[in-house]
Amino acid sequence: MTTNRPASPLWATVNVTGVCNLQCEYCFFQPRKHEHMTIVDFINVIAILKAQNAFFLTISGGEPFMHPRIIILMHAHDTFEHATVLSNGTRIQKTHVDCMRAIIKRKGAFPLQISRDAIDPDTNDKTRGMAFKVMKNLQVLRDAGITLTIAMVKTAMRTCRPCCPIWAAT
Ligand code: SF4
Repeated sequence: MTTNRPASPLWATVNVTGVCNLQCEYCFFQPRKHEHMTIVDFINVIAILKAQNAFFLTISGGEPFMHPRIIILMHAHDTFEHATVLSNGTRIQKTHVDCMRAIIKRKGAFPLQISRDAIDPDTNDKTRGMAFKVMKNLQVLRDAGITLTIAMVKTAMRTCRPCCPIWAAT
C-alpha cells in the first residue's frame, strides 16, 4: 500500500526532563517522572532522528534549563541545522547564555521559545507565576542576541472583557 506520508518526521520534539519548577494547572506533560533524560539516551535518540532525516528538532520538558547538562544544547545544534528550545524562562543562567552565544557564533542564530500566559504580570501569575523573573531573563536573552518567540496559553481570563458572558460566569 502506498501513502503520501513522508518516511521521516519533519519535526521532532524531545522532552529532555520531567522536572519543572512551575505547576501550571493545564500542564500537558502529566503524569510524568520527575527525572532527567540521561545524556546517553539523549545522544541515542538524536542519532535515530538524524538517521531518519528529521528536519527540525525541538528540545522541551518539563523545563529544559533544569537539566544539569548544558551539553544537550550543543549536541542538538551540532547535529541539526534547525533546533530550538521551549522554556518557561525562569531558570536561565549565565552558563546557558554563554552556550547560546557560542552557538550563535557558529550558526548565526539561537531560536528560543519562552512561555507566558499574559503580558500583564498579575494575570500571568494567576496561572503560571514568576512573571517578573521571566521579564528580567527576557531582557538578558534579548541583549545576548537570542532569537525569541513568546508563546501564550489562551485563557478566558486573558482574552475576555467584563462585557463577555465567559468573564461574567467566572
Ligand atoms: S512550565 Fe511547562 S512543563 Fe512546567 S508546569 Fe508549566 S506547562 Fe508544565
